[in-house]
Amino acid sequence: MPEPGRPATWGGRQTVAMASSVLLGPAEIRLLAEGLGVRPTKTLGQNFLHDPNTIRRIVRTAELEPGEHVLEVGPGLGSLTLGLLEAGHPVTAVEIDPVLAAALPATVAERLPEASLTVVEADALHLPPLVTTPTALVANLPYNVAVPVVLTLLEALPLLRSCLVMVQAEVAERLAAAPGSKVYGVPSVKAAWYADTTRAGAVPRAVFWPVPNVDSGLVRLVRRDPPLTSATRREVFTVIDAAFAQRRKTLRAALAGWAGSAPEAERRIVAAGVDPSARGETLDVGAFAAIAAAR
Ligand code: SAM
Repeated sequence: MPEPGRPATWGGRQTVAMASSVLLGPAEIRLLAEGLGVRPTKTLGQNFLHDPNTIRRIVRTAELEPGEHVLEVGPGLGSLTLGLLEAGHPVTAVEIDPVLAAALPATVAERLPEASLTVVEADALHLPPLVTTPTALVANLPYNVAVPVVLTLLEALPLLRSCLVMVQAEVAERLAAAPGSKVYGVPSVKAAWYADTTRAGAVPRAVFWPVPNVDSGLVRLVRRDPPLTSATRREVFTVIDAAFAQRRKTLRAALAGWAGSAPEAERRIVAAGVDPSARGETLDVGAFAAIAAAR
């Protein structure tokens, strides 16, 4: 393959490779899928990117360090993988679909033979221990498991310092929501345990094949220390789950089951310095941590 922009001679005809030729456009995506007999499934959230401009925008928005080792969940046919490799990042790609996982090395070798790619056929919710060194996650996530994947990886990979993920627009909103917002909920508070989360732009439906029936958005998470607390993460997450299981109720009522009774819930909430007549949707992660630690 010629270097981008450099003339090459194939079969006696001179061709100029365009700057985008390393990345996959609509024609390449269709050809690859056809060649592999891939029929995208909804169950695995298979909507493949076929727009080099969007792919380069995602890579730029990830604000990676030069040469930073990236974990990509769900590389699919390789659209984003090639964008990351083209920018000089070693990539470990975890793909659950055996046909896609098996095909990816050849797709990459043909376009970027020098690139550093490791493909792991696995479920990202149950990562094998060999995936430990990437410091950034960049992924167009399967939408039905996007939140569990992000939370599981932030927990399992302490070296992960940032994530730039594409998710359903509503999920992007939820992940980045602040206390008091209508969409603030369990994903918002649990993400806040690990990271500062911000929305990083919308992505039009037309850049995917097949075209999804939902809008998409980018979210960036930058790791920071969890709140200082004597409670464990599990204990804090149990309180968060209980508070939002009945989100219209006051904390005193919603946490009665967790504490054993409403008066005991009230006692602990007050000991944590929180108003027991407040609702969970107004509390930040630090307040949940304080309630979990109150004795
Ligand atoms: N990154 C590719 C792109 O942007 O064109 C494909 C993204 S597609 C939205 C999601 C990908 O995740 C699919 O390739 C699908 O097979 C894969 N996938 C789904 N569930 C997964 C899981 N639990 N673990 C790893 N990969 C998964």
